[in-house]
Amino acid sequence: MKPSDLLTPMPAGLYCPLADIYVDPVRPVARALITHGHSDHARAGHGAVLATRETLAIMALRYGEGFAGSQQAVRPDETVRIGEVVFRFVPAGHVLGSAQIAVEARGLRIVVSGDYKRERDPTCAGFEPIPCDVFITEATFGLPVFRHPPADVEIAKLLDSVRLFPERTHILGAYALGKAQRLMALIREAGYDRPLYIHGAVERLTEFYKSEGLPLGEIRKVVPEERKALAGEIVICPPSAIQDLWSRRFPDPVTAFASGWMRVRARARQKGVELPLIVSDHADWADLQATIRETGAGEIWITHGEADALAHWCGTVGLKGRALHLVGYGDEGEAEPEGRPAEASA
Ligand SMILES: [Zn+2]
Ligand SMILES: [Zn+2]
Repeated sequence: MKPSDLLTPMPAGLYCPLADIYVDPVRPVARALITHGHSDHARAGHGAVLATRETLAIMALRYGEGFAGSQQAVRPDETVRIGEVVFRFVPAGHVLGSAQIAVEARGLRIVVSGDYKRERDPTCAGFEPIPCDVFITEATFGLPVFRHPPADVEIAKLLDSVRLFPERTHILGAYALGKAQRLMALIREAGYDRPLYIHGAVERLTEFYKSEGLPLGEIRKVVPEERKALAGEIVICPPSAIQDLWSRRFPDPVTAFASGWMRVRARARQKGVELPLIVSDHADWADLQATIRETGAGEIWITHGEADALAHWCGTVGLKGRALHLVGYGDEGEAEPEGRPAEASA
């Protein structure tokens, strides 16, 4: 069997004809496997959805309980057989509930990574490499310029600035699902124990993370009339809010933004970010390469991001690289700072 007989790129997404099911479809389909809750991967309107319990809960929070015709929760490492195809969900280390999906039939195994990172994240299970014949990877940061420093180094920059400017409010832009909560947990690990303030758009997902037992400490929603009183505090908000009028009502705000894109200084300047923090929930260039090698796959398909660059690298190390350029992904979780609604619904 050829790999494309097991999974094939279609306009709606990666399709498994033997099981008549899609992975992370970008259009409504009868049956879908969902890797994680970011809105470019998890969309409403499918018939049956299989995903981890956490991903299903996140989808219900964002789209309402009726987001799909039916839902089936899959535990990590549980196998689900559909026809002659066996599917297995394995942690991807990206956000709470995120999973890679291994697809196996007739002795051929393809792993769909979804989005992933290799750096430790206190808010989700770590990525587990799965040996496979074909590894389907993202490449959001698939260029040599992208090297993410350790997140604790970036958090220290934030906390140093907070200490240095006690009369100013630090406004930290972060995506509402995953990044915001990871930052909260990392800030706590660094020993900061004051309340953290949040924008309303981050509230429901943060509550969900807390209900899952994650140690985020005391979280308070910003009361608009009390913004002037928040000198010296840290406020976490969606990226779009750091440039809003909303954030200018705090005392002399320091605008910070936590994203892998902050490696590009021009981009930080252009967005008026005073304190760029390079914290990403995606693998950087070195980790993309390391992960590809660890899977042992001879063939690498690249869904989105810097697909051509990564495919080219594959060729230089004797692997067969194929850029799929699937349309519709471009992670809300680490989209470019401009041009995407920041969690309008959550
Ligand atoms: Zn994502
Ligand atoms: Zn994505």
